[in-house]
Amino acid sequence: MVTNKKKVLIIGGGFGGLFTALDLAANADVTLVSDTDHFCFRPLLYEYLSGEVEAWHIAPDYKELFNAEINFVRGAVEAVDFENQTVKVSTRQDSFDYNALVLAVGGVTNFWNVAGAEDFALPFRGIADADELRNQMTRALDKVSPTLAPQDAREKLTFAVVGGGASGVELATKMSDLLTDAFRRRGLKGEPHVSLLEMSNQIVPGMGEDIRSYVEKTLLDKHIDVHLQTEVLEVKSHGIICEHNGKQTEIETVATVWTAGVKVNPLVERLNLAKDKDGLILVNQTLQVKDFDNVFALGDIAKVEEVAPILAGTAQLANQESALAARNIRAFFDGKDLKTKPFEELGEALSLGTHNAAVLVAGNVIGGALARDARFALYTSRLPTWHHRLKVGASWFFEGTTPRPLQPLGYS
Ligand SMILES: Cc1cc2nc3c(=O)[nH]c(=O)nc-3n(C[C@H](O)[C@H](O)[C@H](O)COP(=O)(O)OP(=O)(O)OC[C@H]3O[C@@H](n4cnc5c(N)ncnc54)[C@H](O)[C@@H]3O)c2cc1C
Repeated sequence: MVTNKKKVLIIGGGFGGLFTALDLAANADVTLVSDTDHFCFRPLLYEYLSGEVEAWHIAPDYKELFNAEINFVRGAVEAVDFENQTVKVSTRQDSFDYNALVLAVGGVTNFWNVAGAEDFALPFRGIADADELRNQMTRALDKVSPTLAPQDAREKLTFAVVGGGASGVELATKMSDLLTDAFRRRGLKGEPHVSLLEMSNQIVPGMGEDIRSYVEKTLLDKHIDVHLQTEVLEVKSHGIICEHNGKQTEIETVATVWTAGVKVNPLVERLNLAKDKDGLILVNQTLQVKDFDNVFALGDIAKVEEVAPILAGTAQLANQESALAARNIRAFFDGKDLKTKPFEELGEALSLGTHNAAVLVAGNVIGGALARDARFALYTSRLPTWHHRLKVGASWFFEGTTPRPLQPLGYS
């Protein structure tokens, strides 16, 4: 379609890129390039693992979200020529040109060069990762017979989650509930064994004391084996070696899941832009990249000096930045002044198993089923597009959000 609107090219369709595209659709000729065909609402990925939500709820195809106003190109961006304002995409011969560019390619799992981690630990960032973990849990359960002694069943169903931040806690509690439910349904003796390993001296570092005590109590209730001040030295195909107080221990596992860090996307490493010591692109408060007024960066790859550390690397920051980026791109095209905006912390909400959550409301921690419902309601309102929100909200309201048990493979 030929238009006389200015061309905005957006690289990455996550919380930063997708929401910028939707915001700008009516004002510019918008093209979004992504290496996947779907968005992923990651805060509900744990619920996808447990079958409380389905893939179409949290990972809708871009083509379903976009009307004719947004062009979608599937492919990985390989290079950007900032001087000539062109972008090379893996799936296309010709480069794309732009009047304004938005860089929003997000992060990738950081295995911190721990031996074996990249080869053997499972990342947990997308639908395919959750599918793989669910398969590994089911396959492991299928190998355990109801006649097995409790200690042997526990050994055969040992999983490790590396990283005791919000993500590790949410994942460990969800896995524990799913596995415990499967023990009961399959008549297995004993209980599963989920270990949570954290290098610092507390879980959910950075969060408030009230929410931490609630989380600690929940982990205890669910018999999750928490190891603090414990460093993972090596990941093997079926185990980990870790160190605590100078003593090394080997734990045999079915699988090890890695939630202990994010680093910038490799594409960003190749871009010749000003960056900080962690490789984040330095942007000013208008989200413009230093030296290129028509290039904006946001989300997990961008560093805005003034942002509170607790907000860094979160969907809520990327989301707020997308509104500012869209507003400033409109102003840039109209020759108006670009704005800045303070980014706010919008609160904390943690999933804590299949029937529990913790939500911080006006400084108070609310837990239990009410918090779980509140979290679902909050996240429904944050899904992209009204149309999608209505479809998903109706599905959750009428069909419910009951977890899908880990049935034996081949069982339908
Ligand atoms: C399991 C999990 C749970 C989380 N829960 C929360 C939460 O509860 N609350 C919260 O605030 N934050 C949460 N986060 C963090 C949040 O998801 C990120 O901060 C947020 O997604 C960052 O948005 P972004 O737009 O920068 O990147 P992303 O959302 O990661 O999007 C980047 C997009 O770029 C695409 N891409 C990458 N490379 C290329 C390329 N070369 N070419 C084209 N496209 C490319 C990717 O496929 C992706 O679609 C969670 C993260 C994880 C992993």
